[in-house]
Amino acid sequence: MRGFFTQIAAGIALALTGIASTVSAQDAEGGWSLAIHGGAGTIARENMSAEDDAAYRTSLQAALDAGAKVLAEGGEALDAVEAVILLLEDDPRFNAGRGAVFTWEGGHELDASIMDGRDRDAGAVAGVTNIRHPILLARKVMTDSPHVMLAGKGAETFAKEQGLETVPAEWFGTDFRREALERMKAKELSALDVDAKFGTVGAVALDRNGNLAAGTSTGGMTGKRWNRIGDAPVIGAGTYADNRSCAVSATGWGEYFIRVGVAKAICARMELAGDSAQAASDAVMADVKALGGDGGVIVVSNSGDAIYSFNTSGMYRGRATSEGMNEVAIYGDE
Ligand code: ASP
Repeated sequence: MRGFFTQIAAGIALALTGIASTVSAQDAEGGWSLAIHGGAGTIARENMSAEDDAAYRTSLQAALDAGAKVLAEGGEALDAVEAVILLLEDDPRFNAGRGAVFTWEGGHELDASIMDGRDRDAGAVAGVTNIRHPILLARKVMTDSPHVMLAGKGAETFAKEQGLETVPAEWFGTDFRREALERMKAKELSALDVDAKFGTVGAVALDRNGNLAAGTSTGGMTGKRWNRIGDAPVIGAGTYADNRSCAVSATGWGEYFIRVGVAKAICARMELAGDSAQAASDAVMADVKALGGDGGVIVVSNSGDAIYSFNTSGMYRGRATSEGMNEVAIYGDE
């Protein structure tokens, strides 16, 4: 009898293993979605040359393609997010890594964060000055430190210990961003008055295994002082990912995004109120606007919706899915 039961038990175990592997095989063939942004702001057709328009679209498409390739090949959402942001951090057109805005003193202080929707593990860095790829440092904080957020010199010491690439300050500087600082100083505008903040980059992804991830990287706002830190490295404000709902990356006037807790608020509305990604994002962006803030978000839901919501005239953006969607856009009316 005993042997019989053992045989039955073994048979059941075998059947269950069969079911389990069928399920994971199905999961592995699930769909994927990706959305990216390169910042939101006053971006108008009439102020953009045909060359700049085309160059921005080429940059966005290259970043979108890099992330889509990872996901189409069955790679992880986190790796897709990283692939997108690595390219945009090296692209001088965007306010992240190379091309970052100048601080009041003429330097660069970079912020970045990344989050894994599986277990809500997260890493962030704020105010680093010599790291070529702040997104890689944020990921190292997540995977190789017991912390979520490191800042300034301490973050740079950690980066050194982790063997991350450092670059001299000149690496980040571009004429375009220097002129923005000079314009601001000449007009005696505050960092909050000058609309030269757009260009932050971010990505959100759902992979074939149903896992979500989000990441954001920025130089912050032109002419920022006193070690100001925006929303990009604040988990729950500029970045959030939770497999139960969605992944979000934000761009815009960071102070408002922190006050509203934008990224977490969107995920919470979806999880608790059953809102769609679009409805949740539009509601939270309306809240930002009511307080006086502007900007936008990209969101991918755990069911694969890839959406944008912004209350500025434009947002550099793109999205792609396993269903065949593939687009980049700049202005609000496209
Ligand atoms: N949100 C960023 C910050 O406030 C700036 C931006 O997205 O353009 O630092």
